Amino acid sequence: MTNTKAFGNAAADAPLKQININRRNPTPHDVEIDILYCGVCHSDLHTARGEWGPTAYPCVPGHEIVGKVTRVGDHVKKFKVGDTVGVGCIVDSCRECQYCQSDLEQFCEKGMTGTYGSPDKHMQGLPTYGGYSERIVVDENYVLRIPENLDIAAAAPLLCAGITTYSPLRHWKVGPGQKVGVVGIGGLGHMAIKIAKAMGAYVVAFTTSDSKFTEAKRLGADDVILSKDETQMQKYAGQLHFMIDAVSAQHDINAYLGQLRVDGSLALVGAPSEPLPVAAFKLIMARRSFAGSLIGGILETQEMLDFCGKHEILPDIEMINIQQINEAYDRLMKGDVKYRFVIDMASLKKS
Ligand code: NAP
Ligand code: ZN
Ligand code: ZN
Repeated sequence: MTNTKAFGNAAADAPLKQININRRNPTPHDVEIDILYCGVCHSDLHTARGEWGPTAYPCVPGHEIVGKVTRVGDHVKKFKVGDTVGVGCIVDSCRECQYCQSDLEQFCEKGMTGTYGSPDKHMQGLPTYGGYSERIVVDENYVLRIPENLDIAAAAPLLCAGITTYSPLRHWKVGPGQKVGVVGIGGLGHMAIKIAKAMGAYVVAFTTSDSKFTEAKRLGADDVILSKDETQMQKYAGQLHFMIDAVSAQHDINAYLGQLRVDGSLALVGAPSEPLPVAAFKLIMARRSFAGSLIGGILETQEMLDFCGKHEILPDIEMINIQQINEAYDRLMKGDVKYRFVIDMASLKKS
């Protein structure tokens, strides 16, 4: 076991602070990774603050991990010491069920092992601990390769924000000739704009924030709608082929369903803790679909990383030290991040 510095909290209402955790020694199939950067996902905040139901404490969040391989087990084939690698939201799954067999580990019938907060098979059921830590040990089959041309700090958020938006855009076959809406321009939403644009769609951003209204086109949007302005909300009503909703809080989903054309689909990726009431007539009058999507499988995550490498797509990041994490969470609650916080993990190692 390796004693490892981490940042976590002990209760929903407790701030995150420095703690110590144990990492297992690499088994023959494991890769040990020295964590250099970790993105800050709104799911980290939902989980640390117990907003989705009971959280296993201590909670060490972080599932947008980039680092260097420091040790490999005897049977590891895909990675060697010194490689730049990534770890996203999944660190294990049963590998046998119909979904694991079809590269959809996120829907594993036995339940995937999340990077944080899942029972850890190697540690007598203690929770898994995520990327707000010095190092992590992960089975090589759940480790990703980072394309060499991408900046490794900025690449970190691809491991969740990137795949969570890439996967539905692929599943609903977004491409040229389609108008795509993106609701909520935070970490996920700004990646959805960039990726949908690279896939050839006409992209319309919907935001509640005046400052993002003026910036969305710089991110790649063809048009932007300030969603609190009723007149602007009429501009694309009934016209969009597909939408991604990445809003982290309660909001009126019906205003966005109304943007879809006949047979259009809205995929919810945002995960507010309370139900979102859907008006029946918003769906039935235009045969619209209201759907959801969860991260993406390991194979698709690698495909997304390679796609972002090829198209040179990277998130816009604000680098922070780990000691600023509680303040960063408060800013996330206000939608005040452009567009993803990334923790420089040197700040934890130095402390
Ligand atoms: P984020 O960076 O905080 O962005 C959320 C955005 O939602 C904000 O920037 C804001 O956009 C909008 N928003 C926030 N509060 C709002 C309110 N009260 N009313 C209307 N709009 C509001 O969060 P994120 O990391 O992108 O994550 C977004 C959501 O996706 C979270 O719930 C997260 O847990 C979830 N998530 C789901 C998956 C999945 O697999 N499905 C994966 C990762 C994350 P504007 O300023 O543009 O309005
Ligand atoms: Zn996430
Ligand atoms: Zn499975």
